[in-house]
Amino acid sequence: MAIRTLDSLGDLSGRTVLIRCDFNVPLQDGEITDEGRIVASLPTLRALLQQGAKVVAMSHLGRPKGAPEAKYSLAPVARRLGELLDAEVAFAADTVGEDAHRVRIALQDGQLALLENLRFDPRETSDDAAERASFAAELAAGADAFVSDGFGVVHRAQASVVEIAQVLPSAAGLLVERELTVLSRLTETPERPYAVVLGGSKVSDKLGVIEHLLPRVDRLLIGGGMLFTFLKAQGHEVASSLLEADQLDRVRGYLAQAEELGVELLLPTDVVVAAAFAADAEHETVAADAIAGSRFGDAGIGLDIGPDSAAAFAEAIRGARTVFWNGPMGVFEMEAFAAGTKAIAQALTEVDGLAVVGGGDSAAAVRQLGFDDSAFGHISTGGGASLEFLEGAALPGLEALGWEGR
Ligand code: ADP
Ligand code: MG
Repeated sequence: MAIRTLDSLGDLSGRTVLIRCDFNVPLQDGEITDEGRIVASLPTLRALLQQGAKVVAMSHLGRPKGAPEAKYSLAPVARRLGELLDAEVAFAADTVGEDAHRVRIALQDGQLALLENLRFDPRETSDDAAERASFAAELAAGADAFVSDGFGVVHRAQASVVEIAQVLPSAAGLLVERELTVLSRLTETPERPYAVVLGGSKVSDKLGVIEHLLPRVDRLLIGGGMLFTFLKAQGHEVASSLLEADQLDRVRGYLAQAEELGVELLLPTDVVVAAAFAADAEHETVAADAIAGSRFGDAGIGLDIGPDSAAAFAEAIRGARTVFWNGPMGVFEMEAFAAGTKAIAQALTEVDGLAVVGGGDSAAAVRQLGFDDSAFGHISTGGGASLEFLEGAALPGLEALGWEGR
C-alpha cells in the first residue's frame, strides 16, 4: 500500500503516540446509540498498546462551535472504550490544557488516554492554516509519533488530521489501511454492473459527488432527501419536502449528463408523504409526480421512497456486481419511514459481488434495522470521506501520510 503504515514508525514501546480516531458516534441522552466507529478503532489501539506505547487518542464529536459544550463531551466514549478494551482509559477534560498535561505525564507504557473533543478549540477547524498549525504544535508537544486512523475525517484539512502529520513522524493506522484496500477495489476495476446508491440529508454535499461518479458507474440510484431536488428539476412539485432550489440547474445538468453517458439514473416512482416531520405523523404513499396532490397538500413532506421504488431499487442493486451505498433512503429513525432503507440494505446483503456501505448514519441504519456487519462486504466508517475517495479527489489527510494511490 502506497501510504506510510504503522511499521514505518519502528519500535513504539515506551513512546508517546498520538492517534486521531473518529469517535463521532451518535448519542441520545448521553448514551451511545451506535458504537460501530469505536469498535472499528480497536485493532489499531490494541496494536499500539501491545507494543507498549503510551497512547493518547483524540477525536471530535458533533459540531460544537469552537468552545466546550457538555452535550458534545467525549466522556461517554472514554467509558465505552474502557469497557471494550477491558482497560483503564484516562480521560482529559481538555485537549492542550492543564488536564491534558496531567493525564499525559501520568501515562505508563501500554496505557491509553483520551482527550476531550478537539472541536472545543476553534483552531482545529480554522480556515487559517497558521491557527491550525499552532493547535497541532500544542497537541504534538511531548509526543513521538502520530497515527491517523480516523478514516471519517481524512477528507478534512484540519489540525489533528493534516498539520499534526507534518510535525511528527506519521503513519496510517490499520483502519485507514483497511478502508483504502476495500475502497480501492471500487475505484480501480470494479466488476460491472457497478451501482451507486445515494440518499441521506446532506443534499448539497452529495450532489457534488454525482458529477464525478456519473462517468464511473453503470447505475445511479437516488433516494433520501436529495430525490426531491431531482423531482423538482423534472418539473414536479414536492410540497414541503427537502429541496435545494439553488441546485436545480446543476441537477438538470446531471440528468442530461446521465443520458449522454448511457448511465441508468433511477429515481423513485412513488414516495411516502407525511403530514409533518414526526414519528407518529399521518402519511400516505403517492406517485412521485403527485406529491403536491397528497391529502396533506402544501404541508406534505416526503420522508421515504415508496414500496414500488424500493422494489425497483432492490432489483437494480441485486443485479449489480459492485455496489456502494451512502445515505438512508428515508427517515429510518422513525419506523414508519424506514421501509425503503430496509429494502435497500436487504438487497445489498444479496449482491453477488462486493457491497459496501459508507456513512455514519447509513452504518447506524443497517445495524438498527437488525443487519449484521458481516452481511456486507464492508461497512466504511467514512461517509463524506468514502464518497470523495470514490470521486477520485485528493484527500488532504491521506496526502499528509504520503498516499499515492494503491
Ligand atoms: P450518512 O451519515 O450515512 O452519510 P447523512 O448524514 O447524509 O447520511 O443522512 C442521514 C440522515 O438523512 C438520516 O438522519 C435520515 O433521517 C435523513 N433523511 C433521509 N431521507 C430524508 C428525507 N426524505 N427528508 C429528510 N431527511 C432525510
Ligand atoms: Mg450523517
